[in-house]
Amino acid sequence: MAMVACRECAKAVSDRAEHCPHCGFKLIATTSWGFGKVLVASILILGLVTCIGRLSEPPTKPSTKTTEETKADIDNTARYACKGFIEKSLHDYRSADLSAWTSATVTQPFGSTAVYEVAMQVRAKNAFNATRLSTMTCGLLRNGDNWTLTGLSQAGK
Ligand SMILES: [Zn+2]
Repeated sequence: MAMVACRECAKAVSDRAEHCPHCGFKLIATTSWGFGKVLVASILILGLVTCIGRLSEPPTKPSTKTTEETKADIDNTARYACKGFIEKSLHDYRSADLSAWTSATVTQPFGSTAVYEVAMQVRAKNAFNATRLSTMTCGLLRNGDNWTLTGLSQAGK
């Protein structure tokens, strides 16, 4: 396992990591030829044609702003969908504290852009009326703007 620099924040990440643990940037493209790759290829070809000397300098930080924002948007939608499903599942969601939902961890366990896992911290009353902090994990299936709950699990003390 080698460490490489994240293309977005330049911090060291595993070359097998799907997402940068520091900034969440998606490191492994699941679509065959994304905008970023085409851009990098264009820069390389342009550099080769115009100035071979410049090839020694790697292209710095390709503009992947659009892709990154889209991914962040999707992650946030996943968090929001999970929050909604958790509220529905809770006995008394009004007494539950889901304010940490914005920092929930979003993963794509199968590397698929359709399957998401969202883990968020929830403070809620249990059946015995005791407030417990637990991590609730939503399994989500994304189909465009539609999010389906495939599983909801809870790990707590
Ligand atoms: Zn990063």
